[in-house]
Amino acid sequence: MAQDYYDALGVSRDADEDEIQSAYREKAAKYHPDVSDEEDAEEKFKEIKRAKEVLTDDEKRRMYDQMGHEQFERAAKRGATDEGAGGAGGMGGMGGMGGADMNDIFDQFFGGGAGGGRGRGRGGPQPGRDLQTRLDVDLEDAYHGVEKEMTVRRPEQCPDCEGAGHPPGATAETCPQCDGQGQTTRVQRTPFGRMQQTQTCQRCDGEGQLYDETCSTCSGEGTVREEATLTVEVPAGIRDGQTLRMGGEGAAGEPGAPQGDLLIDVSVADHPDFERDGDDLHYKHAVSFPQAVFGDSVEIPTFEGPVEMDVPGGTQSGETFRLRNKGMPRLRGRGQGDLYVEVHVVTPDSLNEEQREALEAFAEAGGEDIDVEQGFFEKLKNSF
Ligand code: ZN
Repeated sequence: MAQDYYDALGVSRDADEDEIQSAYREKAAKYHPDVSDEEDAEEKFKEIKRAKEVLTDDEKRRMYDQMGHEQFERAAKRGATDEGAGGAGGMGGMGGMGGADMNDIFDQFFGGGAGGGRGRGRGGPQPGRDLQTRLDVDLEDAYHGVEKEMTVRRPEQCPDCEGAGHPPGATAETCPQCDGQGQTTRVQRTPFGRMQQTQTCQRCDGEGQLYDETCSTCSGEGTVREEATLTVEVPAGIRDGQTLRMGGEGAAGEPGAPQGDLLIDVSVADHPDFERDGDDLHYKHAVSFPQAVFGDSVEIPTFEGPVEMDVPGGTQSGETFRLRNKGMPRLRGRGQGDLYVEVHVVTPDSLNEEQREALEAFAEAGGEDIDVEQGFFEKLKNSF
């Protein structure tokens, strides 16, 4: 066996990661036990796999270069807590591995602060992500509250591997990168000293194990995107831009972990007749001049059906009247907002003969001397 991983892969000591990866692929194709007839194929294959693993990990490669092959592997073996790991995983979090000489070796590289990763153990299975979607409702739905069916495409647990990402029969091997811990500890030198950072192992995604097979249905993701039809309860009084949260309707989590939530941004459409201001509604109602003068009872539409409203005599155009508790229901509260009715007096743009005479008499009786434009009346006359 080669006593050097660079030799094993046939790359130079300053080879970059791409070179190492492609050298590995080339060698792996040659020595993979499934395809190779060579006697020591399996040994060779293990060696190049290990070589790639060490040399494509910046931290390990740095240590390998500094320690040399023998010392590095000896340290790694002692660091390994699981049979078969055969890796330098112990370097990730070696707080619990004990052995004075081990610590001595690592102290050279990490200083005394190493080892915090252990004890916390794996972070546990990751819960699913929250997903966000949008729902359009109209104002009347927002008034009454509504149940809406909606379809969301979301990651659901893969039915074939039950979220594991590998077939049930796949063979597991302890992840050599993290030594089965599911997380790695990285120590960085900073102007403030050595900073230690624990993160999920990228090699095994925190699982601590690697599998020889990947689920073909989900490509190892553990989830597949599926359409789900949900019934959303939109509460009465919902406002435009508010977000509803449906617990457990987001993306699937890792096996054993909860699903994320679904966040639904509700968009309330504008209404042609009502303008909303918080829980209040505004409505414009047209009355005739005589109605404004004499007063009248008028019908105002609401989402509960029409209601009667008294327009008092002498109402000015633009005057606003309040109908209490005829606005939008208060979300998660009691009662309703108010409905404000702005009364507009409509000026007729055409009059029949009778109306014209009456209006002229009205003006005259009030002492008004109106210089009526002749053309205007000609036009009016002609139109009847
Ligand atoms: Zn699957």
